[in-house]
Amino acid sequence: MTTPPLQPLSTIGSFHAHIYFDGAAQREAALALRDRIAERFPVTLGRVHERLVGPHARPMYQVAFDAAIFGNFVPWLMLNRRGLVVLVHPNTRNERRDHLVHALWMGEMLEIVGPEHLAEDVDAEPAPVPNTQPTLNP
Ligand code: ZN
Repeated sequence: MTTPPLQPLSTIGSFHAHIYFDGAAQREAALALRDRIAERFPVTLGRVHERLVGPHARPMYQVAFDAAIFGNFVPWLMLNRRGLVVLVHPNTRNERRDHLVHALWMGEMLEIVGPEHLAEDVDAEPAPVPNTQPTLNP
């Protein structure tokens, strides 16, 4: 067995956080958390997916963010996720590994649905221009 080569941080184009919810109470908590994120962080909030999409095993929404705010945003999520399951994954050239190998889970690990549909050689997704206007400090 050979050890895979180390990957430089420059491999990461951006990050996603996926905030999952299950049932009405969690949905309400997730939507409230979404507003608290928008008030505090320059991120790109995706729309709320009530039905299952992509490799995600529960309803959720996506938060796309630049590596520059990882050190503030991810610890804040650790403190304030309200019991919700959160997946944080980098966006490199390998979507499959990003979700299956490079992922950081908060709460519990959910299934990644249909990983064979995730590409193994794509352009790493750069952080989009934030669609939030933070008005509060983290
Ligand atoms: Zn994602």
